Amino acid sequence: VSESAFDVLVLGAGPAGEVAAGRLAERGQSVALIEQELIGGECSFYACMPSKALLRPAEELAEVKRVPGAREAVTGSLDVDAALRRRDEVIHDLSDDAQLPWLEDRGIALVRDHGRLEGERCVRLDGGGALRAKRAVIIATGSVADLPSVPGLTEARPWTNRQATTAKRAPSSMIVLGGGVVGVEMAQAWATLGSRVTLIEPLPRLLSREEPFAGEQVADALRERGVDVRLVARARQVSRENGAVTLELEQDATGVGPATVTAEELLVAAGRKPRSEGIGLETVGLEGGEPIEVDEQLRVLGHDWLYAVGDVNGRALLTHMGKYQARIATDVILGGDSRIVSDGPASPRVVFTEPQVAAVGLTLELAEERGLRVTAVDHASDGTAGASFHGRNAGGISRLVIDDERRVVVGATFTGPDVAEWLHAATIAVVAEVPLEMLRHAAPSFPTRSEVWLRLLEKYGL
Ligand SMILES: Cc1cc2nc3c(=O)[nH]c(=O)nc-3n(C[C@H](O)[C@H](O)[C@H](O)COP(=O)(O)OP(=O)(O)OC[C@H]3O[C@@H](n4cnc5c(N)ncnc54)[C@H](O)[C@@H]3O)c2cc1C
Repeated sequence: VSESAFDVLVLGAGPAGEVAAGRLAERGQSVALIEQELIGGECSFYACMPSKALLRPAEELAEVKRVPGAREAVTGSLDVDAALRRRDEVIHDLSDDAQLPWLEDRGIALVRDHGRLEGERCVRLDGGGALRAKRAVIIATGSVADLPSVPGLTEARPWTNRQATTAKRAPSSMIVLGGGVVGVEMAQAWATLGSRVTLIEPLPRLLSREEPFAGEQVADALRERGVDVRLVARARQVSRENGAVTLELEQDATGVGPATVTAEELLVAAGRKPRSEGIGLETVGLEGGEPIEVDEQLRVLGHDWLYAVGDVNGRALLTHMGKYQARIATDVILGGDSRIVSDGPASPRVVFTEPQVAAVGLTLELAEERGLRVTAVDHASDGTAGASFHGRNAGGISRLVIDDERRVVVGATFTGPDVAEWLHAATIAVVAEVPLEMLRHAAPSFPTRSEVWLRLLEKYGL
């Protein structure tokens, strides 16, 4: 490509960039999609998809083992090689060929190169040439693992999500640094696939942004699977010798606790960094390295032709939220007046451990911090007739956080096996602000586990 002009240029073909390119092309725009690696981005190959493939076999096995009649049919143990083969199928052996017809059908010009802004409406390609945008440029370059500044960490060649989701065998032992979503999911996945896992979290609980019971239940479940969960533990130094990584921990205030952990691999799951460096932001007066600040229409502040969607803007590091942002941005580019209604920490979110944690809106703590007058109502997630078919002692808690003044649900958290699919009902209630007086007319089918909604509303007095 020497110099070509398109209506819109999209930089990065992860889920956010793909949705933006697809919607614009379907609405008659000429679009170039610039991607340096794989069409589908981090999500398809190194994040959402392979991580769920690694977690699913043990989850399914646990469910079957809870149901008498089916349980007796399980006579063997989890087949690790088959699980890893299935993961490879899900990520298409790191090939994006299957994505190409979708782009071709929409007439999207795919440019396989690293691109960077070069002033207004122009993207320079490392391989030579430049592209110009008549209407807009959308930045969708995503994020990378953030390595904390622990002495020796980089030299110890730690795993990031990339190695943790694509490894060809289970390491004999693994240290996971960070007890957020990626940390707990990967700790559970590899523990169930045969690794001896130690999970290190500096805060007093896992999944610290969720309701406290969520982190406690996930910690219990990890411990049941043999994971050594260490809370209030901070890494002080890392070294690698003779194929083993040793992590030195800071001692807690009482000076208690074994000071070192050694393992074959160390996975860093300590947050994400926006991929906003090396993409030419300085040529349009912006700074790289930080999340790209956008308004509620995903427009980069001060530039009416420039948009940023997905992880790179730091608003909500979730695939479905990046795709939502892409839908809003494309509406705006096409002349509409859409704007974000709900994202940030209140976004719908699922942790795919066993038990799963599915949440939307505010936790009780966050609602109180925001000065809302709220009541939390809880019910056992397995406390319905429908739940009895999902096995004995399936466990979990369901919580609604209700705004007593506006009489709407402002937050919901469900824990328990296979609760991810419950979340969308709560998302509708929270985002659409369905009045409680209407919500009680939505009768859940019998016998489904959704009857938990009845129990929760009854507890609130409805
Ligand atoms: C282990 C793990 C599990 C996860 N699980 C889930 C989950 O279950 N559900 C969920 O909703 N979210 C999950 N996430 C988060 C999810 O992966 C991200 O929110 C999502 O991938 C962000 O999409 P994106 O399009 O913004 O960026 P990305 O998926 O990061 O894609 C960005 C693309 O841009 C390309 N690119 C970057 N710079 C350039 C450049 N200069 N030129 C050309 N191309 C460039 C990159 O190569 C990449 O392909 C998970 C994350 C991790 C790490």
